[in-house]
Amino acid sequence: MEKKIYKNYINGEWVESASGCTFEDRNPADNREVIGEFQRSNPEDVKRAVEAAKNAYDKWRLYPAPKRAEILFKAAEILVKRKEDFAKQMTQEMGKVLKETRGDVQEAIDMTYYMAGEGRRQFGQTTPSELPNKFAMSVRQPMGVCALITPWNFPMAIPSWKLMPALICGNTAVFKPATDTPLSAYNLVKACEEAGIPKGVVNFVTGTGSEVGGPLMKNEDVKLVSFTGSTVVGRTVSETCAPTFKHTNLEMGGKNAIMVMEDANLDLAIEGAIWGGFGTTGQRCTAASRVIVHKKVYQEFAEKFAARAKGLKIGNGLDPQVEMGPSINDSQLKTVISYVEIGKKEGAKLMTGGNRLVKGDYIHGFFHEPTVFAEVDPQMRIAQEEIFGPVVALIPCDSLQNAIDICNGVVYGLSASIYTQDVNKAFVAIRDIYTGIFYVNSSTIGAEVHLPFGGTKQTGNGHREAGTAALDVFSEWKTVYVDYSGKLQKAQIDDLNIS
Ligand code: NAD
Repeated sequence: MEKKIYKNYINGEWVESASGCTFEDRNPADNREVIGEFQRSNPEDVKRAVEAAKNAYDKWRLYPAPKRAEILFKAAEILVKRKEDFAKQMTQEMGKVLKETRGDVQEAIDMTYYMAGEGRRQFGQTTPSELPNKFAMSVRQPMGVCALITPWNFPMAIPSWKLMPALICGNTAVFKPATDTPLSAYNLVKACEEAGIPKGVVNFVTGTGSEVGGPLMKNEDVKLVSFTGSTVVGRTVSETCAPTFKHTNLEMGGKNAIMVMEDANLDLAIEGAIWGGFGTTGQRCTAASRVIVHKKVYQEFAEKFAARAKGLKIGNGLDPQVEMGPSINDSQLKTVISYVEIGKKEGAKLMTGGNRLVKGDYIHGFFHEPTVFAEVDPQMRIAQEEIFGPVVALIPCDSLQNAIDICNGVVYGLSASIYTQDVNKAFVAIRDIYTGIFYVNSSTIGAEVHLPFGGTKQTGNGHREAGTAALDVFSEWKTVYVDYSGKLQKAQIDDLNIS
């Protein structure tokens, strides 16, 4: 790929950062390969971008939503046309295998079409008033400038979950992508530009969390910060925005579990656990990093699962045979390595993996063996903390209730699943697992854009992305009463006499 210098997009123009500096975007499968150079922006760029978004807001909010939708619709069509190129660039930029990056782009396409559809919906309520000659309804109103801060693991899908609902509701946006994946973010913004988004409505500023993300969320013209990332940074966003009650929508970490009951279809459960544990190299917020297995089938499950993990083909995600790519960067790889050491010290049984891959070309990337720990106690750190890598903890259990308690016994609450042939067990789990997403006879991953997405406890702050739930993040309700009686009427006080 030709090395290129990419710019920020502010007020409808591609511009260099005020800092005059850039940073490199490198391939985690082969760190010698530079994908491109991006602007290392600073607070001055943020200020300009927010100003542009603020100035564009009135025009955009007054532009009819079905017309906004037409622009989104065009953007979706552009994404469809470029899907293969964008997927390849994403694999080069962040390492996940091509079939997964195609899925990532597809999710952005789905979300963009879906939110275009909301241009003709965004339904409110009309309802009878308790007083005569009075009309009551609720309508959605946009909020202003939204700051969108996103992680690297779904570099086009997650930005689309924020940008498209923000736009269709009539907000303008300043988008700061993760430093590891600016190219996929650029591709999404470029599609919006080509679709005809008016100047200032979408602004794109690349750079670090401290130089761009911090000033962005502190800017008083920003009305909402929609953040997806780690719980640690999410807490900072929450604390920073609290004094002014700035709205925040926080989607954070997970420690998701698959529960495998004694009556489960084991082969199906193993495939689900492999996909959940090692898909995206374990770097999904919904990754199944814990598998809680009934002791009656535990031994068989553990042996087959570890063998299957050991056989996974690791390498560059552009190779169609490859099943698992690298970790995103050196720091993430070091985290994985350190948790493997923690697991060993805690006394968990290492069944397979446990090492960085260093032979041949692997040394130029951040590759780690798929790793399975067995006999894991639910309180061990490897069973409690988000590792965000190809490390799965197998935890034995002796009943459904025991599995539910273990599954719920972490600070996160994003996703969980159960494998069972018993509908009664499935429904008890559906009721008693406290997560935002739950699957039956399927892995912990696989969200669809028209349903709410998000988590409980320290995974989120009560909001949901995707579906109509996203509209609740990016708009506020206005309740409207129209009194056409021509006199002062008092709700709850006037006595209406029917006789
Ligand atoms: P991160 O928290 O390190 O970074 C997320 C974003 O915040 C990046 O754009 C980063 O530059 C920015 N940022 C960092 N420090 C900041 C600061 N002080 N002020 C403002 N912005 C700052 O997360 P990551 O490593 O990019 O992503 C991995 C994490 O994201 C995992 O914890 C994963 O579970 C989580 N995640 C959650 C969901 C979800 O929907 N719940 C989805 C995907 C990823």
